[in-house]
Amino acid sequence: MPTDSVAGPPRLFIDTHTHLADARYADLDWVLRRARAAGVEQVVAIGTNAADSTEVVALCKKHPGVFAAVGVHPNEAPESFDADWDRVVGLAAAEGVVAIGETGLDRYWKKTPFDLQRDRFTRHLELAAACDLPVVIHSRDCMRDVIDHLAALALPIRGVLHSFTGNSDEARDLVALGLHLSFAGMITFANKALDSLREAAATVPLDRLLVETDSPYLAPVPHRGECNEPAFVAHTALKLAEIRGLDSAVLASATTRNARELFRLPADQTLEARPPIH
Ligand SMILES: [Zn+2]
Repeated sequence: MPTDSVAGPPRLFIDTHTHLADARYADLDWVLRRARAAGVEQVVAIGTNAADSTEVVALCKKHPGVFAAVGVHPNEAPESFDADWDRVVGLAAAEGVVAIGETGLDRYWKKTPFDLQRDRFTRHLELAAACDLPVVIHSRDCMRDVIDHLAALALPIRGVLHSFTGNSDEARDLVALGLHLSFAGMITFANKALDSLREAAATVPLDRLLVETDSPYLAPVPHRGECNEPAFVAHTALKLAEIRGLDSAVLASATTRNARELFRLPADQTLEARPPIH
């Protein structure tokens, strides 16, 4: 029976991408207790519009160990962007905000015209540079567009390509641009089509690797099909260690150190260690 506890020395993780403002987390206290019990010390809660960006900023105040990213997702409706953007800019300086995003490009859903997505992406990158914050980048079916967009901008780039799903060439180019790459539950799926993703995961420099859940979406094996939550990040991290032939404690400490450096997370602000409620 698969469980969420792993024998051996404690492994501490940071879930660098979770949508904690999602309505599925009505019992957030319990979700965070389970995360802490599974070795998750800190999480970055991601905004996708002004409303949930405001919510994740509020969660930082309420829950030690929760930090926020504020932004407008490329799939948010075009007409809502201008009003949302002013609020996001206002939130960028709030306490607990450690990144701008998520932003990026998406050719799959086609909810926002692509030129408009590019324009929004640039505005997020400029805001991140102006605030000296890392940027959280989404890319679906357009990894090469994201690489070209970043390469064309004369901006210092610090941030993460989250839930990376590209190949080794794309990984190499994103790392050369200065980005970290974050891996989510998909690397645990058995699908043959994901072998090139696993190959890419084996090639990323250890000091650029991050792990995330992207919860509540795409729970890793052995929770596939369930509502994902930060506690499950351990499964993705253990799979990443296996792919790279590394001891899981080495992988855990490297990805945790990388996340702390990139997002400048204070090591002493962690999720409270309280017994999980089953
Ligand atoms: Zn996301």
